[in-house]
Amino acid sequence: MRMSKLFVQTLREFPSDAEVISHKLLVRAGYIRKLTNGVYNYLPLMWRVLKKIENIVREEMDASGAQELLMPFVQPSELWLESGRWEVYGKELMRLKDRHNREMCLGPTHEEVITSIGREGIRSYKQLPVNLYQIQSKFRDEIRPRFGLLRGREFIMKDAYSFDADEQGLDKSYEIMAKAYTRIFERCGLETKMVQSDSGAIGGSVSHEFMVLVNEDAENNAGENDVFYCTKCGYSANSNHAVSILNEVETDGHFDCAKIVDTPNTHSIEELSEFLKIPSSVICKCLIYVIDGKYVAALIRGDRTIEETKLMNAFQGNDIRIARNDEIEEIMNISGFNAVAGFIGPKGLKGVEIIADETVKDLKNFVIGINQNDKHFVGANWGIDVELPQKIEDIRLVEENDKCVDCNAPLKVTKGIEVGNIFKLGTKYSKAMNATFADKDGQEKPFIMGCYGIGISRTAAAAVERHHDEFGIKWPLAIAPYTVIVVPVSDQDETQMRVAEEIYNKLLEAKVEVILDDRQERAGVKLKDADLIGIPYRITVGKTIKDNLVEFKERATNNMVTITPDEAVSRILAL
Ligand code: ATP
Ligand code: MG
Repeated sequence: MRMSKLFVQTLREFPSDAEVISHKLLVRAGYIRKLTNGVYNYLPLMWRVLKKIENIVREEMDASGAQELLMPFVQPSELWLESGRWEVYGKELMRLKDRHNREMCLGPTHEEVITSIGREGIRSYKQLPVNLYQIQSKFRDEIRPRFGLLRGREFIMKDAYSFDADEQGLDKSYEIMAKAYTRIFERCGLETKMVQSDSGAIGGSVSHEFMVLVNEDAENNAGENDVFYCTKCGYSANSNHAVSILNEVETDGHFDCAKIVDTPNTHSIEELSEFLKIPSSVICKCLIYVIDGKYVAALIRGDRTIEETKLMNAFQGNDIRIARNDEIEEIMNISGFNAVAGFIGPKGLKGVEIIADETVKDLKNFVIGINQNDKHFVGANWGIDVELPQKIEDIRLVEENDKCVDCNAPLKVTKGIEVGNIFKLGTKYSKAMNATFADKDGQEKPFIMGCYGIGISRTAAAAVERHHDEFGIKWPLAIAPYTVIVVPVSDQDETQMRVAEEIYNKLLEAKVEVILDDRQERAGVKLKDADLIGIPYRITVGKTIKDNLVEFKERATNNMVTITPDEAVSRILAL
């Protein structure tokens, strides 16, 4: 490809609306252009990258025995009513009506459609196992589509679905996918960690995420997930699923009697612990949440934080948020109190379900809100002053240096980008949608299913997050839009132009994906663009060509060597 013909416009500046580096670089280097919020044009360079990722995915999926198909992007509401998700899937589901007033949605995922395909196409256990996949655009009306391709509203996903006759079959299908995913990301030049995770709105029990780990620094905050991991035994989990053994802290308030004391303006745990001169670990915190429209009071030890996904799952919820002040007021009205947030306690609350984290069980002579403003109850004990809630679960966020449940070593935390996800769905969809097959014994049984996603467009962005420097992108070779760029320093110099053309033609003949920067531009512009666009190898033909030497640069390391044009070509051919 001649650069003068390549459809690409690089920008001098980063776009002002981009926060994360992959978004900034992909726009500035001319890979993507925003059409509307969270919806991007994939320009020619981007499309080459995406097709490379797709091809790797396709090859590995095919090798694993899965078969590719393509399901419609638009789906009828009927299937979603059957599965029960029409009501519970949140605002991310883009709903629309056709001219006959029939309700439809844009596919955010395809469990319903694939289950209907399995229901019609698989009659007998003899046809099992089956794994079907597609690579296609998805639409999710994400609330904050602000990270470019990392979190688009329209994005490209590979989604696969397995059908098995029994649990052992599913275990096997799951294992095959886990292995394929590991190979896929390796081949893309991306190191990933397979971590345990929550199964979320899709349902089911076991799931793992493939995370690209990114460091948290000022410039790079793209990792939306906290991954906790053990350096000793390899345990690792997304924060929404991670568990830990807590280090010992003081849990006895050592108050000599139980009484109500004045605690003016102590709205936060910090203010309260400072005012009473006690550690926060002897305070029982009470927070009001709204889960699927119902009020929940969650108790947790003052030094720890609620993990909202765990809390939501404790009530099999689909949606969770902290209660607004007017909602707290409503609860206070029903219960006959008038306290504001910060002074709420479980005692006497009406119209609210109460749940406690395990951390509150061991509290003694502790401090707790009693629904009176500017007051707290100190020296409280369970069973005497306040009832210990019946529902006690692990609803807390793990913290760094908590201990690993498998080996007791301290846990570490890092940021991760979820590029892939594998789920054991079990019979969630097959039962709800009555998708059955005839088993060996002649009985009709629901399929045991799994689902497996890879964010194709997110994977490309994650690669940029992992591989870049201040000058631009450093594509891993396997997914780079082109392998080499040949840059003559001066388009006025006949020898330089001739040698550059020769190198270009030799590489073209050898079917190497090569760009010749034949533009009438200053050398600085051409070299900067090559770095920005991130082509893995650059062959620069400059003045040294009179000694038959060119500059050969590897973008990943920025290492440069001066070699003959022939050697440069053979180095590329040897890749
Ligand atoms: P997230 O938690 O990041 O919202 P998810 O768990 O809802 O993602 P899945 O339903 O598991 O996503 O989808 C499978 C894969 O699709 C994810 O692992 C991710 O790589 C990709 N993906 C999901 N949502 C988006 C999005 N908004 N933009 C780009 N890729 C996405
Ligand atoms: Mg996921």
